[in-house]
Amino acid sequence: MIDELRRLLGDSGVLTDRADMAPFCTDWKNTSHGAAACVLRPKSTIEVAAIMRLCHQAGVPIVPQGGNTSMAAGAIPDASGGQVVLSLSRMNAIRAVDPVGMTIELEAGCILATAKAAALEHGRLLPISFGAEGSAQIGGVVSTNAGGVNVLRYGMTRQMVLGLEVVGADGTVLSGVRHLRKDNAGYDWKQIFIGSEGTLGIVTAAVLRLLPKPRYVVTALLSVPDPQHGLALLKLMQDELGDAISAFELISGFSFGLVEKHFGAKAPVVGDGWFVLLEASASVVGLREGVEAGLEKALTEGIATDGVIAESESQTRAIWALREQITEAELKEGRSLKHDVSVPIPSLPAFLQDATSALATSFPLAKVNAFGHAGDGNVHFNVLVPSDVGAREINRVVHDVVAAHGGSISAEHGIGSYRVAELAHYRSGPELEFARHIKRSLDPLGLMNPGKVLAPWD
Ligand SMILES: Cc1cc2nc3c(=O)[nH]c(=O)nc-3n(C[C@H](O)[C@H](O)[C@H](O)COP(=O)(O)OP(=O)(O)OC[C@H]3O[C@@H](n4cnc5c(N)ncnc54)[C@H](O)[C@@H]3O)c2cc1C
Repeated sequence: MIDELRRLLGDSGVLTDRADMAPFCTDWKNTSHGAAACVLRPKSTIEVAAIMRLCHQAGVPIVPQGGNTSMAAGAIPDASGGQVVLSLSRMNAIRAVDPVGMTIELEAGCILATAKAAALEHGRLLPISFGAEGSAQIGGVVSTNAGGVNVLRYGMTRQMVLGLEVVGADGTVLSGVRHLRKDNAGYDWKQIFIGSEGTLGIVTAAVLRLLPKPRYVVTALLSVPDPQHGLALLKLMQDELGDAISAFELISGFSFGLVEKHFGAKAPVVGDGWFVLLEASASVVGLREGVEAGLEKALTEGIATDGVIAESESQTRAIWALREQITEAELKEGRSLKHDVSVPIPSLPAFLQDATSALATSFPLAKVNAFGHAGDGNVHFNVLVPSDVGAREINRVVHDVVAAHGGSISAEHGIGSYRVAELAHYRSGPELEFARHIKRSLDPLGLMNPGKVLAPWD
């Protein structure tokens, strides 16, 4: 089969050397390691379809991989050495940018930051934004239904996808690269593949919606005594600015403490409780005045205790760097167990309090690093623990509190291989059975990213 694949893809399209394959078999945190039979690097949809046909005939499992920035070890093969990694990185063309129809058509391997830059050249905005956008690829972004810091205003990736091209488990090509805002002609099948984490098919191209690039962007950092005041600030700013708020990040003092410790960067506001990073954007004048008025009100009413508005591009970058360095600072600090959870927005303060005290009772040495997209009810509730503390026990304590508040155990990072057992525990039986039904229909041999999202079944 390897010989046949080499004839199909050329020598550079098939990696079998252990050292060459190593980066494709380890996640970015260097905590999950697998082994692959080979790594395939096709250059076209036709090649992807041929690979899928071959693997289908031979019964070989496929692990699709984009930028390999998954937070849930979703793109790594298992340890058997019998799975094939299908990397989309060489399919990275920007096929078209349409500033009038406000769409962009991209191959799956195009890096998100490259796609955003291409849109900006035409005065258009692709608003999907998160820390790994310099490595994450469009196929991975679509397949994880990525969120990020602009969801509050623009929605998740799903809201941006107008069309998809997908190669199914048996090599069938579904060509839906349509640039349409309206298309109610039958079932909207692309929705099944968005967020399916490579378990149903290979995304080879996507058409994404663009927006006008806002002329004005105002970034502010504020300190608030606690998450309850953080939500009061969200409400006040929404009243003041309407839907101009594009990001509203709630960050604990502990998180910024880690950034200061490992990167030497200090928040430019006074406060030892919580912080809010707020960004507003619009093309009409008066945005800055609106943010200033909101800030003044928040300070007068005691909702916020201090605040700054960035005066320059470099100050804006410095404020965002504080937020973006949290994940890496946490990695430097030591072992952490990540919980990317969501609860209904008003329940966020109670969730934070309940989960923190539940942990303090059961695991007194645990330290909570909480930060995230509070405007979406999404918090990264990460727990720093010594190596002898069991991950499963900590996960259960946190996720039980999530469930008690009607939340989700994965707000935006997906299930991957990390959360398979947790999904089976917290999702209802009929919902799981429905998911298995979809999987069986589209991947009857169970060859697409096995062991991710759903546990394998007989
Ligand atoms: C520092 C950092 C910050 C992050 N912040 C956020 C955040 O704020 N919000 C957020 O949602 N995520 C975040 N992530 C997680 C991650 O970046 C996203 O999930 C991203 O969308 C993954 O893209 P990728 O190309 O790296 O996919 P990969 O990691 O390569 O793959 C992710 C999943 O998609 C599947 N897949 C990849 N490509 C394809 C394809 N073409 N067809 C079918 N399946 C495919 C893989 O099998 C895997 O299951 C962050 C990650 C890091 C490292």
